[in-house]
Amino acid sequence: MSAQTPLRRIVILGGGTAGWMTAAALARALDGRIALQLVESDAIGTIGVGESTIPMIRRFNTALGIDEDEFVRATGATFKLGIEFRDWGAIGELYMHGFGRFGQDLATLPFYQYWLRMRQAGKGGGLAAYSINQMAARAHRFMRADPSHGNSPLADITHAFHIDAGLYARYLREYGERLGVVRTEGRVAETLLRPEDGHVRALRLDGGAVVEGDLFIDCSGMRALLIGDAMGVPFEDWNRWLPCDRAWAVPCAKTSALPPYTIATARPAGWQWRIGLQHRTGNGHVYASRFMDDASARAILMDNLDGAPLGEPRLVKFRAGRREKSWVKNVVAIGLSGGFLEPLESTSIHMIQTAIARLLDFFPDAAFQQRDIDEFNRQGAFEAERIRDFLILHYHATTRADTPFWDYVRTMAVPDTLQAKTDLYRSRGRIVREGNELFSEVAWLQVLEGQGIAAGGYHPLADVQAEHEVAGYLGDIAGVIGQCVDVMPAHADFIEAIRRHP
Ligand code: FAD
Repeated sequence: MSAQTPLRRIVILGGGTAGWMTAAALARALDGRIALQLVESDAIGTIGVGESTIPMIRRFNTALGIDEDEFVRATGATFKLGIEFRDWGAIGELYMHGFGRFGQDLATLPFYQYWLRMRQAGKGGGLAAYSINQMAARAHRFMRADPSHGNSPLADITHAFHIDAGLYARYLREYGERLGVVRTEGRVAETLLRPEDGHVRALRLDGGAVVEGDLFIDCSGMRALLIGDAMGVPFEDWNRWLPCDRAWAVPCAKTSALPPYTIATARPAGWQWRIGLQHRTGNGHVYASRFMDDASARAILMDNLDGAPLGEPRLVKFRAGRREKSWVKNVVAIGLSGGFLEPLESTSIHMIQTAIARLLDFFPDAAFQQRDIDEFNRQGAFEAERIRDFLILHYHATTRADTPFWDYVRTMAVPDTLQAKTDLYRSRGRIVREGNELFSEVAWLQVLEGQGIAAGGYHPLADVQAEHEVAGYLGDIAGVIGQCVDVMPAHADFIEAIRRHP
């Protein structure tokens, strides 16, 4: 067995959410054993959006030892129980993708198979009644899951956050610097490669300073300075399935309502987000430039704010897709440099988090094993493709034909993996989740049903119980959830209590 030579110095290029999340997590994991340097340019700045998260962010916070109340105060955060989709399946329709579980599994099958059976019999009502997250969200109530409630839905509440992107980056920077990350301000003018193997040797900054390293993490955002420019990894474009490629974003004054969910309203060539924070509301209009010009998109955003705008809207351009590989030689791309799936299900920050976890799983020594790199890339591709499919479903499964955009997405060919999933559901209501796919069966269920794809049947074993038994079981669940929501505090009060008691 040959001796392993540890890395001595890691350089992170970029100080956006990706850069500082990576720096903070590596600083915590490496405990000072490898030098960490982060290079960022204030003049270039960060993308400054990315305010809606999914529940897995709590694992990241826990791994970093972050106190959740402190996090909520520092980032202006509110709690998020899901996303409400307005006008997606058809104009005037509304549904929610709530996080967490539905009901409780009866006998051998997941809850939703019994719901499908009852629905087929014209009974059982809507899905929402069986989700504590959805019911609490609609009532604007919130509390954290409390395990002391045992089997109760109060032990099952699953939350994420809405955060202020600027405050979050600052918070992580303070965390990283406290643990020894050295920040260097400057613009990278040139990437210097080692002639013998093409690895990155150093970054040359404006003014001539040179930053050397053994491993370079590319968090340079859409510029993709290292993975794209230096390593030449091609970008796989998914625009044909996810045609939105621009967004206008503007904050507005907060309103009295503080919904514990993100609102995503479909628009003629895309959709609009509304995210309530403690101190303001974030808004953005995501649209496809092929189907709408910038001025019209801007006007739609500004006409649909529920508070006075706090500044001029900002235009962000992007491309849906990913780099064919995220790790090549001694360069690992994390964040927008590795790709971007549009923000519909708030998955980007999560994908930063999983890329960091994968990097720690396959952490290299100075010899950089190609097998490890290949596996890292394989897992990243799988994750991105499955999330892509879930996002495409939101557009494709619609009856809307009122604009060329909706006509296009409704009739476009979708990836085989998505087609197989929807066919399976249409047939006997089966939802299959492979490997460590991000979205759960009930996440798929809510969007499939919410967008109007109905199951043609249900699992035959759901017939094992007598109908009155199943009806009683569903009725009990809905009743208990209703009672639980009644005892939960208002979302705004819950946050106020955190703010008052530092
Ligand atoms: P950036 O923030 O762009 O940071 C890049 C960094 O690289 C900066 O510090 C910059 O200064 C530095 N840099 C670049 N070039 C150089 C150079 N030559 N020299 C030195 N430094 C350099 N994600 C979610 O999870 N939830 C959401 O709700 C969500 N909403 C979004 C909405 C929109 C419209 C868009 C476009 C994205 C959204 N995202 C969302 C994605 C999220 O914003 C990003 O994943 C996240 O901010 C990470 O960005 P980043 O750090 O990779 O890039």
